[in-house]
Amino acid sequence: MIQLLRRMFKNKNNRNCQFKYKQLYFFGQNVAFCSNGNPSQQRKYPIIYKNFNGNIDIKDLLKKIEKVRKNVRKGIFPAECEGCHLIKEVDEADSLKIDFIQFSDYCLCNSRCIYCNSWRTSIVQEDGRVKSSVGISDSYNIIPIINILISKKLITQNTAIGFAGGEPTVYQYFEDALKLLLDFGIKQIKIYSNVIRYSEQIARGLNMGVVDLTVSVDAGTKEIHKKVKGVESYELIYENLKRYLQIAKNKSQIVSKYVIVPEINDLESEIEKWILKSKEIGVKKLEINLDDRVIENGYNSELMYKINTLNNYFVNKSKENNIDYDICANCLFARDYCENK
Ligand code: SF4
Ligand code: SF4
Repeated sequence: MIQLLRRMFKNKNNRNCQFKYKQLYFFGQNVAFCSNGNPSQQRKYPIIYKNFNGNIDIKDLLKKIEKVRKNVRKGIFPAECEGCHLIKEVDEADSLKIDFIQFSDYCLCNSRCIYCNSWRTSIVQEDGRVKSSVGISDSYNIIPIINILISKKLITQNTAIGFAGGEPTVYQYFEDALKLLLDFGIKQIKIYSNVIRYSEQIARGLNMGVVDLTVSVDAGTKEIHKKVKGVESYELIYENLKRYLQIAKNKSQIVSKYVIVPEINDLESEIEKWILKSKEIGVKKLEINLDDRVIENGYNSELMYKINTLNNYFVNKSKENNIDYDICANCLFARDYCENK
């Protein structure tokens, strides 16, 4: 009996989110622990601050993080995390250390991906600059936040940093923020960009071997690319991808990605053409994912099995062509769904 109680107690204490609440995401209006969210709750994610406007109170932030971690150690998870498939038996979080900080506080974009809302309030001007159609500037300035996080050692050279969408290269503080982080000596910076606009600081970070760049191409042909991306960017992005590949210290820092959008690009033939084109220009790593809307708005078995078949096709073709590959969260969810059915 005592042993059974001990076992129950131990299991409860050892359960944690795979990311251990060691990540911070700065979104346009909130700060959160997670970005992908809980697939069993329409991708809800645990929020630390709502209506965040860029003014950061470090003491309060640390207090809030510690409170969540303390509860998790007792087996009490934030409501948004209940039922998340990433809660597993893992070692306890060891300290207040933050492993990863992502900045996604801007929402403007110069692409029009069918699976994304970022571009819907964006106007691309003739000079290629992007402005908001609703008169709101694209969010707060992250440079003071980076400076304060560095001064309080919440960002150290070993903290991984991320920039995601909207499109980082059209965010007004992006080049300066990236320069600051590169000058500070951050060792790993992950950037999601559509590469329609070439960035000197991204090129610099690639050359230093510090930046990992992920580009969602989403198609094997120009026609399907236009259907998914909503703009004619196929040739331009391959041109910029080649420039970045030439300058990168290590070619596997650049990842070409394919987001499966049901009824548009959920085709083996497109996936194959994308893999071959990637190989042709020297891409060494590929990723596949599934449109977030499928997880948010409901899915069925038939679709999950189809996605899993495409997952397997992608894996086999990548191996056949000797390219590294990764399956991202939503596609992994489809795989788990099929395996546990
Ligand atoms: S929603 Fe899932 S992945 Fe996100 S913090 Fe909660 S448990 Fe972790
Ligand atoms: S490039 Fe990124 S931010 Fe822009 S519309 Fe596509 S998914 Fe959204």
